[in-house]
Amino acid sequence: MIGEYITEIKGIGDKLAGDLASLNIYTVEDLLHYFPNRYDQYEIKPLSELVHEEKATVEGRVIHEPSLAFYGRKKSRLTFTVDVENVAVKAVMFNRAFAKKQLKAGDIVTLAGKWDAHRLQLTVSNYKKGAAETQQDIQPIYSVKGDLTNYKLKKAVENGFKDFSHLIQEILPQRYLQAYKLPERKTALYTMHFPASRTALKHARRRFIYEEFLLFQLKMQMLRKIQREATRGNAQHYLEEKVTSFMNHLPFTLTGAQKKSLEQILKDMRSPYRMNRLLQGDVGSGKTAVAAICLFAAITASKQGALMVPTEILAEQHYESLSELFGDDARIVLLTGSVKGKKRKEILEQIEKQEADIVVGTHALIQNDVFFQNLGLVIVDEQHRFGVEQRRILKEKGLDPDVLFMTATPIPRTLAITAFGDMDVSVIDEMPVGRKEIETYWAKENMLDRILGFVEKHIRQGEQAYVICPLIEESDKLDIQNAVDLYHQLEEFYPPEIKVGLMHGRLRTEEKEDIMKKFAANEIQILVSTTVVEVGVNVPNATTMIIYDAERFGLSQLHQLRGRVGRGDKQSYCILIADPKGETGKERMRIMTETTNGFELSEEDLKLRGPGDFFGKKQSGAPEFKVADMVHDYRALETARKDAEEIIEGGLLDQDIDFQPLKSWLEEHFSMTDKLD
Ligand code: ADP
Ligand code: MG
Repeated sequence: MIGEYITEIKGIGDKLAGDLASLNIYTVEDLLHYFPNRYDQYEIKPLSELVHEEKATVEGRVIHEPSLAFYGRKKSRLTFTVDVENVAVKAVMFNRAFAKKQLKAGDIVTLAGKWDAHRLQLTVSNYKKGAAETQQDIQPIYSVKGDLTNYKLKKAVENGFKDFSHLIQEILPQRYLQAYKLPERKTALYTMHFPASRTALKHARRRFIYEEFLLFQLKMQMLRKIQREATRGNAQHYLEEKVTSFMNHLPFTLTGAQKKSLEQILKDMRSPYRMNRLLQGDVGSGKTAVAAICLFAAITASKQGALMVPTEILAEQHYESLSELFGDDARIVLLTGSVKGKKRKEILEQIEKQEADIVVGTHALIQNDVFFQNLGLVIVDEQHRFGVEQRRILKEKGLDPDVLFMTATPIPRTLAITAFGDMDVSVIDEMPVGRKEIETYWAKENMLDRILGFVEKHIRQGEQAYVICPLIEESDKLDIQNAVDLYHQLEEFYPPEIKVGLMHGRLRTEEKEDIMKKFAANEIQILVSTTVVEVGVNVPNATTMIIYDAERFGLSQLHQLRGRVGRGDKQSYCILIADPKGETGKERMRIMTETTNGFELSEEDLKLRGPGDFFGKKQSGAPEFKVADMVHDYRALETARKDAEEIIEGGLLDQDIDFQPLKSWLEEHFSMTDKLD
């Protein structure tokens, strides 16, 4: 929009421009969009209304020259007296020696700080010379660094407006501004820097929250549309009757949520566009059952299907359960890293000649030497581990199958529609009937003897347990030491017939798999582990999960760990050993004991931790917004999503004159070709 360099603004020379550049401010537009990160409000009240020990702002005349006293190293105290409503108020300012020169007897000043009603004294945190401009004088506070001061930045913004405000253009269509009663861009922009009132500021913020969300959603949906249309021609003509009959022969009836998700997926499969869909559902909600039906559908369309999972153990488990489920209906093969030599060659040939209908495996199944004859559908379990890279490999082999990602990590709806805006999302938010809820308890460490006794009792009944060991912040090494110590402790505590196993991230893959196999075969009854068991392990006979230092985990991670039990038909238990100090920690423990609904938990987690944390540092799928907050402003997010859909699906950018400025903005700021591989 206003691409001129900031040096075009009166009063900004090379020095100031250099300082601004360190804040990534280069153009006039950058400057005008560098919003304050907070506002100080000087709301003048009569002395009689000020509250002891609370924040207060007063306006008065300096009576005596300030006196400055130094103490300690580099510390100073500036004291002076101010006449406020004819009362002598003492003002104290710490470490602002420079203010002595600025404040002279007779000056009018506005002071903000903490009020001491007994001493008639104000400990000043902010001041400005002169009277407050209005009863509610709101001052922008920018985040600055180096030689830049708040004052200089504010002045620069002011001058920026003076010289360039005539170039600020509206980009939002009038119909939305009117519908949501949002202020015009120019007004809103000015208000963000120089708010006349709290109310005006609120509306300006509301406008930019909506604008940020809408622009983001538009980008995502344009991307999605382009991706879809780039892949015309892969409709799968599956046989409806056969699929229905297959469903009717399952040993259970699908839940409503399963049916709905299935319909959405099948619709994508028969459409000419490539599917890019995320299927979310708690552990045990029946995702794999849905996946199996879709794989079956693909076969009836004379296509091949692939199911890709993160570990070999899981691949074997899925291979077995699918083989049982399909019987003679499909030819299924298992392809993992440990399938080698002649056997591997045989399987590769079957895949290439389409003598195999379904391939179950790890990443090995898209390796260089694997060629599918006619791959229609790829299902990826645990979506984090499959990405653009895998997609590209398939593409290079001339394959562009429908892809369904399945995840048991419940991502809050608010985040899902933002971060995965270019994906379609199906949700299974309902459990099959008759499932036993995992009983969850919160205990202190001094109850350990009782807890270990409880575990022993269940082991004597033929069941098994996990113990997740204490967590030491930022030290993988110490965590492992902890696991080792705990392992020895438990071995000593229990009689020899109860076998304890140890699992942690430093073990080699084969060692890990070996231990998991022993645990799955009940040759080990108690598995001590760091958090590495989190993903995809399925041992239905394990009924107790003990988690040390539970307060150090996020809710979603606790839920994920808890999901390792409750997989069979026996009652399962989760015991959280925690002694949280803060309220947030206690709240987390309470929530865990009260609900087993993953989506509820992840919404709570999001509230407690914020979206950045939620995604973790690496997976920063969470976009950054300047004004908007995905958690607090989720209503605006939903509205923006809906509007973006209307705009893209309705082709409004091209057809409606009201949308012309928005279209130009998008063309200038977002290059589609960058995003396509
Ligand atoms: P997920 O993949 O989401 O963890 P699964 O599909 O493996 O869940 O289902 C867990 C268990 O529940 C399996 O034993 C499956 O056979 C069973 N199951 C799936 N859907 C239903 C249903 N609608 N009613 C009863 N049992 C079901
Ligand atoms: Mg399709």
